[in-house]
Amino acid sequence: MANEKQYTLEFQAAQHLTQDYYEITLKAPANFTWEPGQYTHFSLPDHEIEGKKQRALSFASLPDEKHILLGTRTRQTPSSFKATFLGLAPGAPVVSDGPQGEFLLPEADVPLVFFAGGVGITPIRALIRALTLSNRQQPYTLIYSSDDFYFFDDDFSTWAQQQAQFTYVKTQTVDQTHEQLQSLVQTASAQTQYYLSSSPKIVQSMKEFLGTLAVDPEQIHLDQLYGY
Ligand SMILES: Cc1cc2nc3c(=O)[nH]c(=O)nc-3n(C[C@H](O)[C@H](O)[C@H](O)COP(=O)(O)OP(=O)(O)OC[C@H]3O[C@@H](n4cnc5c(N)ncnc54)[C@H](O)[C@@H]3O)c2cc1C
Repeated sequence: MANEKQYTLEFQAAQHLTQDYYEITLKAPANFTWEPGQYTHFSLPDHEIEGKKQRALSFASLPDEKHILLGTRTRQTPSSFKATFLGLAPGAPVVSDGPQGEFLLPEADVPLVFFAGGVGITPIRALIRALTLSNRQQPYTLIYSSDDFYFFDDDFSTWAQQQAQFTYVKTQTVDQTHEQLQSLVQTASAQTQYYLSSSPKIVQSMKEFLGTLAVDPEQIHLDQLYGY
């Protein structure tokens, strides 16, 4: 359910990365914070948007990074919402209904396996950034699957070089992803927690795959990016 509170953030910039991939940065007021793994609904005041007026987008950054970082794709013809968002002038207001979502790190230092498909990487960047900055000792692995472009690839490569307990693996096909998951499950413990983030279809199929490997559903956390 959406929060009733509203926060006015400030658009900073939209960067076209490649094809239909974009990063957006926003500035938040001092009273605005969130947990790594959360998302919010954004709306764009003062603009006529055709169709749905809000979009859920995940925070890819942590509150103490220099700005709010978002990642998105538009398809060949951007929706009215995304065309407007990407074309905002620096300083334009962007309204959030507050942070939401339970795709959060566990409190215990248990081994973690993250799977991101495509844009599903956005909340996972925040989760992994939080782990790299903490004193937590558990091993964690990211399997990031994409057909073509990998968001935040430099960040993940750098963090994997700096942190012995972080392993970063890129895949392109479902078979490659299954192979990686299977080998991780073979050496995993009953405490290992699995975090899956992508479109609902991909998240469900990876969850089913983990089920065939006898992973307990209680160990699996889902973030389904409805709308993809
Ligand atoms: C919890 C949560 C977190 C999310 N986090 C993010 C995020 O960090 N970044 C992000 O970009 N999105 C995120 N989304 C999805 C986001 O809210 C939009 O639904 C999505 O970005 C598509 O918006 P749109 O304006 O491009 O397309 P819409 O105008 O909303 O979509 C129009 C139609 O096109 C279809 N469609 C949309 N995109 C594609 C595509 N790539 N290929 C094929 N068909 C498509 C939709 O199913 C729909 O039928 C999140 C959603 C949820 C629920």
